[in-house]
Amino acid sequence: MPQSDFPEEQSLEQLFQQADELGKKQYHRLTPEDFEDYRKYDYWRNINGDGECGSTQESRDWVRQNSGYSCPVCQERFSTPGHHRTIDHKLPRAQYPWLSLNFANLWVICLACNQEKAEMHWFEYEHYMLLNHPEIYSNVHEVRPNRLIKNLRQT
Ligand SMILES: [Zn+2]
Repeated sequence: MPQSDFPEEQSLEQLFQQADELGKKQYHRLTPEDFEDYRKYDYWRNINGDGECGSTQESRDWVRQNSGYSCPVCQERFSTPGHHRTIDHKLPRAQYPWLSLNFANLWVICLACNQEKAEMHWFEYEHYMLLNHPEIYSNVHEVRPNRLIKNLRQT
């Protein structure tokens, strides 16, 4: 299916440009709190083998409150082997360490989807899904972290 069949193509293209411009700027000065959050997330998250994610009561509660029975991306049930719950950063932690514990940046997706997304920037990820999984692209497009992206532009 050619990309032009998707009405979102144009806006995705613009978002790519925007991400590129942002990447060229020093747009966030990291604070000690940012590093503390970054470090804290390691304890907060922790993937327990094949079990459910969350190594603290707080993180387990958060996962429970922020996930249903199936993965929002591939729709596979979290009880399916290889598809258990994991916490993912919409905007990768490696690139946006100050968003490590920003809940607007976290979502619960299955292990398989998390591994496939890897360290892709959100825009890369949308683009990737559009090309490789067009039938479920809308699942990803719908949860684009608009407010975070907008905030990046303002800071
Ligand atoms: Zn999935």
